[in-house]
Amino acid sequence: MKTALVTGASRGIGTACAIALSKMGYNIVLNYNKSEEKAENLANIITENYGVDVMCVKADVSDKTAVDEMVSKALEKFNCIDVLVNNAGVSSVKLFTDTTVDDWNEIISTNLTSVYNVTHAVLPSMLRNHSGNVVNIASMWGEVGASMEVAYSASKAGVIGLTKALAKEVAPSSIRVNCVSPGVIMTDMMSSFSDEDIKLIREDIPLDVLGTAKNVADAVAFLVSDKAQFITGQVLSVNGGMVI
Ligand code: NAP
Repeated sequence: MKTALVTGASRGIGTACAIALSKMGYNIVLNYNKSEEKAENLANIITENYGVDVMCVKADVSDKTAVDEMVSKALEKFNCIDVLVNNAGVSSVKLFTDTTVDDWNEIISTNLTSVYNVTHAVLPSMLRNHSGNVVNIASMWGEVGASMEVAYSASKAGVIGLTKALAKEVAPSSIRVNCVSPGVIMTDMMSSFSDEDIKLIREDIPLDVLGTAKNVADAVAFLVSDKAQFITGQVLSVNGGMVI
């Protein structure tokens, strides 16, 4: 049986990815940082409904030591990690001139350095197996930039660059590395926006619907499946046409 590690699986897109992968038959390593109860509830739902093995591990993905410990525990239990979804992330909306170096470092370390941390820990087992799939959750703002989200946009542009370069480096070992790049997805991350803001944003989405976490998870499920076996180094946008 194969195993998938999903970072930031306690809420939102990570939860939807963990469910989608468990439906595909993967054992799940469910990473969380603060939302322990949500992670434990999700683990119970997955075990009861999909008959796979689940392990919950707390780790701040920006902390290399914590990540190395998490991956060691996962490998001890499951021997190998076949799929890695680097999903954990935070956002912040403020003027660039109001962004302190601490704000900057928090966004970059949680959204970008984390992808280095977790992938660096997981990749040796994929290289040994000569197979594996990494999917990084980027953002449309990493593709085109968002006003008042400069640090966030830079972190996600970094994730896209990392994805393309690593895809080239590990392709000879039959490991695929791709990005899913979501548009506006209705999760806790959007909770600071008012109903009026959301209405205005929706008017900018050609398909005239707001995205769901499942929309993103469906794209992740496709990329790790055999249907995508000739696809690597790509950015799959899931945004209702907002950025084309
Ligand atoms: P969310 O609902 O706010 O959930 C964020 C998840 O990340 C939570 O499970 C949280 O875990 C985890 N997390 C945050 N910091 C962490 C850390 N230091 N270590 C480990 N886990 C951490 O956000 P979401 O909307 O699902 O976003 C998921 C990903 O999609 C992010 O990378 C985000 O940038 C990206 N994205 C989202 C949207 C959108 O519109 N929602 C659009 C584009 C891209 P705890 O609660 O356990 O701390």
